[in-house]
Amino acid sequence: MDALPEFKVLNPATLDEVMAARAAHPDSKPLGGGTDLVVNIRRGIVAPPVLIDMTRVAGLHAIKADANSIEIGASVTLTQLAEHPVAIEHYPVLAQAAGLIAGPTHRNMGTVGGNLCLDTRCIFYNQSEWWRDANNHCLKTTGSMCHVAPKSRGVCFATFSGDLAPALLTLGAEIDIAGPNGRRTMPLEKLYIGFARLRGDEAAASAAQARQDIPVTETQGDGKFFLSLRPGEIVTTVRANNTPGLRSGYDKIRIRKSIEYPVAGVAVALKREGDRLASLRVAFTGTNPRPVLLDGTAALTGGGLDERVFKGLDALVRDQIMPMKTTFTPGHYRRRVAGVLARRLLTRLFEG
Ligand SMILES: Cc1cc2nc3c(=O)[nH]c(=O)nc-3n(C[C@H](O)[C@H](O)[C@H](O)COP(=O)(O)OP(=O)(O)OC[C@H]3O[C@@H](n4cnc5c(N)ncnc54)[C@H](O)[C@@H]3O)c2cc1C
Ligand code: SF4
Repeated sequence: MDALPEFKVLNPATLDEVMAARAAHPDSKPLGGGTDLVVNIRRGIVAPPVLIDMTRVAGLHAIKADANSIEIGASVTLTQLAEHPVAIEHYPVLAQAAGLIAGPTHRNMGTVGGNLCLDTRCIFYNQSEWWRDANNHCLKTTGSMCHVAPKSRGVCFATFSGDLAPALLTLGAEIDIAGPNGRRTMPLEKLYIGFARLRGDEAAASAAQARQDIPVTETQGDGKFFLSLRPGEIVTTVRANNTPGLRSGYDKIRIRKSIEYPVAGVAVALKREGDRLASLRVAFTGTNPRPVLLDGTAALTGGGLDERVFKGLDALVRDQIMPMKTTFTPGHYRRRVAGVLARRLLTRLFEG
């Protein structure tokens, strides 16, 4: 096992102290439970000289929830969210997603903020230093090419795998951010800028070439630049609303059921009025460089849950879900899994 490099841990007690620490140490990284960051440090993927522990910062530990809305601090642990009675009753998609992340010990340590800002993953990236060195590294670290799509010429396709983001996206969540220039609030969807809209694996190479000429901006990134956070910014809170009659749930497939990132994960929130599907939101993780809230689901509503809905859903998944060969499971398999999971969960919620 690789030894950990030297780093310093700061323990601010307030948000102002966090901001001061970030300003004094521009190369620092926020530390939640460390269940992903410390693994990456050990593998030599990142080497921040200073970690700023977010878990002792006042005001980031609360879940404030009732039947109408939920507000979750960035330092709330996954276990606290999964076991919160109001979340279980009124926001099942959140409690279920949190309860299916990693294993119990990770959930005791892992935080909501860390999960939302989880680094993207790839079989050529989440490896030891010597393994990556033997491959001349890749674009996401210090290399000059992508081993997944060698013709991508500048684009990384590493996959976003956090489970909470799709769950929150189906509830139309927004996040609060604190930074050197003050606070701001934005839709959670805008946090994720990983380029994700290629039409089918076969077109990936040519579309990726086109992508090379588009500069990374606050709204358009890739698997390497996948968050729109500005330098020094941190996530402090995430908020979502409930509406009467909303049914929601989360499901995922993973290689080892007790402790694993998703091969694909799906969140669904819908309303049923009589025999009609009145509203539908579907979001995925484990497939693209960002969590994907499916566009076009509104067109599937208005009637019963029939073949038209399932075929329409399949078409949206085919169009918008773009798994590349970034995991040990092939991309086409992950896309199929995503479609099947969505269909099953939709049926279960509609009938339940
Ligand atoms: C074996 C194993 C299995 C796993 N399985 C899953 C899984 O199934 N699903 C899943 O989603 N995850 C999984 N994980 C990853 C991880 O455990 C969780 O995503 C966890 O929620 C990360 O939270 P953390 O607080 O530990 O984050 P950390 O590791 O502390 O941080 C992760 C990233 O977020 C940044 N960060 C932390 N807090 C903030 C903040 N407030 N604002 C801005 N940036 C911040 C850090 O700088 C870092 O870049 C797994 C990990 C392991 C080791
Ligand atoms: S997808 Fe990204 S992480 Fe994977 S090999 Fe390509 S550049 Fe590296």
